[in-house]
Amino acid sequence: MFDLNLFIRQNIKNLKPYSSARDEYEGKDGIFLDANENPYETASKQPYNRYPDPKQKALKEKIARLKRLEPEQVFLGNGSDEAIDMVFRSFCNPGADNVITLPPTYGMYKVCADINDVTVKEIPLTPNYQINVEAVLAAIDKHTKVIWICSPNNPTGNTIYTKDIVQLLTNFNGLVVIDEAYIDFAPDKSFTQKIKDYPNLIILQTFSKAWGMAALRLGMAFASTEIIGIFNKVKYPYNINQVTQEMALEALHNLLNKEMMVEEILTQRAWLEEELGKLNLVIKIHPSDANFLLVKMHHGHEVYEKLVAKKIITRDRSMVTLCEDCVRITVGTASENQALIKALRQI
Ligand SMILES: *Cc1c(COP(=O)(O)O)cnc(C)c1O
Repeated sequence: MFDLNLFIRQNIKNLKPYSSARDEYEGKDGIFLDANENPYETASKQPYNRYPDPKQKALKEKIARLKRLEPEQVFLGNGSDEAIDMVFRSFCNPGADNVITLPPTYGMYKVCADINDVTVKEIPLTPNYQINVEAVLAAIDKHTKVIWICSPNNPTGNTIYTKDIVQLLTNFNGLVVIDEAYIDFAPDKSFTQKIKDYPNLIILQTFSKAWGMAALRLGMAFASTEIIGIFNKVKYPYNINQVTQEMALEALHNLLNKEMMVEEILTQRAWLEEELGKLNLVIKIHPSDANFLLVKMHHGHEVYEKLVAKKIITRDRSMVTLCEDCVRITVGTASENQALIKALRQI
């Protein structure tokens, strides 16, 4: 059985969290002389002289309702990147513990591991970009704290088989993180409703992709109330700024807007796939459940360089394991995608 108490770092377990002025008095009305703020409302459309809600109550309630979870199962971070770091800082002892990643995948898991002095065991995906479950299970030792899964995976674009994820969730006595940054573009269901079945499951989502709010930095983690409670203890008190909280609430109000953008991006992805498929340059377009395509081309690196010269910037993945000669192309607007195809025809 998974026992969270055995997994949390001792110093975090013992931690007495910082208690901010806004934690100690939660009322909305009154004369606020408690937080050493400037009492004058600064000149702008909205006043920003007061500290934001450290618990992001309104926003968490709205997100919880949308995801059919409890607000206590929701953590909000300064991008998913903060949530990724939170996993390391809460559960992995520097210089002692290790985590498993499945390359090719998102680079932040390893960067955060390195910063936190946590060893990374890399178990490459199979050639069709699925999990080598046997190899992952064989790599687990008593210091393995986390398995990082990205689905749909970046940079490959495919969804990871549900049965493989479930196998790891049930056979690993540690945390399994599923990074669902691209889930809105995928036909598959999110794992969010499985939180109650697996106490070792953490799901990451973000406002940076489908929601179109990358500049505002808002990431989400969903997990058991116990795990979320730990993250809330460890996080900076005011980690989500006021503007971000307001803008995210507004975006959640206009859900249809996000859904329409996703529809359009999927239409554009299909168009791009078809047009790319007509080019002699293109060797393979990897099937994508995300808002980008991983495309293998003859001399992928040179294609990337030639596109840069035409001021079209894609992501060169040609040096990445299992992505030889591949370029990752984000789906743009109709005219951006047309410009890309036109440029590729001239190469
Ligand atoms: C883009 C991306 C994110 C988003 O990170 P934020 O910090 O929320 O902007 C997370 N995970 C993956 C795999 C991504 O590709």
